[in-house]
Amino acid sequence: AQPLATPFAWVLVRLDGADTALLHALDAPGPEAVHTGMRVRIRWAAERTGAITDIACFEPYGGDGTGQSAPHDGEFADPVTGIVTPARLDYRYTPGRAQSAYLDALSGQRIVGERCPSCHKVYVPPRGACPTCGVATTEQVEVGPRGTVTTFCIVNIKAKNLDIEVPYVYAHIALDGADLALHARIGGIPYDQVRMGLRVEPVWTEGGRHPDHYRPTGEPDADYDAYKELL
Ligand SMILES: [Zn+2]
Repeated sequence: AQPLATPFAWVLVRLDGADTALLHALDAPGPEAVHTGMRVRIRWAAERTGAITDIACFEPYGGDGTGQSAPHDGEFADPVTGIVTPARLDYRYTPGRAQSAYLDALSGQRIVGERCPSCHKVYVPPRGACPTCGVATTEQVEVGPRGTVTTFCIVNIKAKNLDIEVPYVYAHIALDGADLALHARIGGIPYDQVRMGLRVEPVWTEGGRHPDHYRPTGEPDADYDAYKELL
């Protein structure tokens, strides 16, 4: 499976205009035909498909046929300034034990986190381990449903495939009993009246697997000290 049927060299080639070299084959009959600094050029494959394999190999290139020539001056008459490259990413999400329990509870309109046995923080949504202590979290703790807006932003740009009138508010919400804020949309209140400390509760829709949004409860705002660690 060699690139050429005749003797060749493996060489590092720095293409004119590039800052790094690539490894490729150089058509060379013997060691005397290769030296660092020699000018080379691409020999294209007979059939090109738009892939790296279009480069069959490199070959010596110089005006006098010796491979000796002046370096390229870096100027190109018709420079390529961009290319379009299709990309695709396939992935499978496996929630694992903690996330599965969280999603199961959500289907029953309950929000369940997990407490770290070491620092006693309650993580929502749970990842199965405490990122600070590095130990598994196993004790399940129901939190909320009410919570406090810790911080928020006003969204003015409509998202594709999302039928929500702008502007609207997206907020970090510390559910009661949780030591981590989750994020959700705030509704049921004009966007310019949302504030830090606002008390909110989830609004579920028919068949929804998670709260559609959170709305004000009408309670007095929470004290800053009550949520300042959750910003
Ligand atoms: Zn911990």
